[in-house]
Amino acid sequence: MEILETPAAARAWRRGQPGPVGLVPTMGYLHDGHLSLVRRSLAEDAATVVSIFVNPSQFGPNEDFSRYPRDEAHDLAMLGEAGVHAVYLPAVEAVYPTGFQTSVDVERVTQRLEGERRPGHFRGVATVVLKLFNATGADRAYFGRKDAQQLRVIRRMTLDLDLGVAIVPCDIVRERDGLAMSSRNVYLSPEQRAAAPVIQRALKEASAAWLVGERDATKLRGIVERRIRGEPLAEIDYVSVADDVSLDEVEGKATAPVVISLVVRFGATRLLDNVELGLPGGR
Ligand code: AMP
Repeated sequence: MEILETPAAARAWRRGQPGPVGLVPTMGYLHDGHLSLVRRSLAEDAATVVSIFVNPSQFGPNEDFSRYPRDEAHDLAMLGEAGVHAVYLPAVEAVYPTGFQTSVDVERVTQRLEGERRPGHFRGVATVVLKLFNATGADRAYFGRKDAQQLRVIRRMTLDLDLGVAIVPCDIVRERDGLAMSSRNVYLSPEQRAAAPVIQRALKEASAAWLVGERDATKLRGIVERRIRGEPLAEIDYVSVADDVSLDEVEGKATAPVVISLVVRFGATRLLDNVELGLPGGR
């Protein structure tokens, strides 16, 4: 497994790969959710490169950049065992050269939800992902459905800027009790951790209602909100029922696939989750 520390090293590695390259962008502190993306790439691509980069530009001034969990040795051991070909592990200075002043703004699809609550977040995400695509020359890139808006922002950027990278969405991997795996779950106290599966239960209730024909967005939001409000440690940041592609909020009846996404706070920790409804294949 090669360790690549600069964009130049990543490009040189890419030039040495005869076949398609898959990229799995991460911020490290890896768990089985990340590994599911890695395994998918290993199955589909001639070579897999995983990036580990806690990107300062996607964190707000009052967010958790400096305390974001990190464990490089453990991450590298996991990736070595999984059989990845290269890890791109650049320092902040290697990604943001002195005088850096160029970034990517994806417009409409970043306006609401996470983009609204975390100003500048998706500018940081889009910019760093474009840089990761450029450095690694990836043919395919793997993103979790857990970050629903991020996935749509990356798809939009890739299409709009003719990047020619195939974006591969991967299903949400959950703990046994239904909580979506996340590096940030370590922030939860034992009591908060025990209460957190309420998020998945709420989404399941809304999915069940959808399956028996409920299409009223207000009612679907209400089902989720009511269930979460029943949990005293949980505080709703938002619950959204939105068009699956544009992320425009649905008012009235849903006539196309939707994504129900939400952020629930447990103390200072924001947990994201979502479910897509009405897609062919019945996801
Ligand atoms: P992160 O390290 O949190 O930036 O996540 C890196 C990638 O892994 C993103 O594409 C995430 O959507 C994806 N990911 C994180 N958690 C999960 C999960 N529980 N299931 C599937 N994908 C995930």
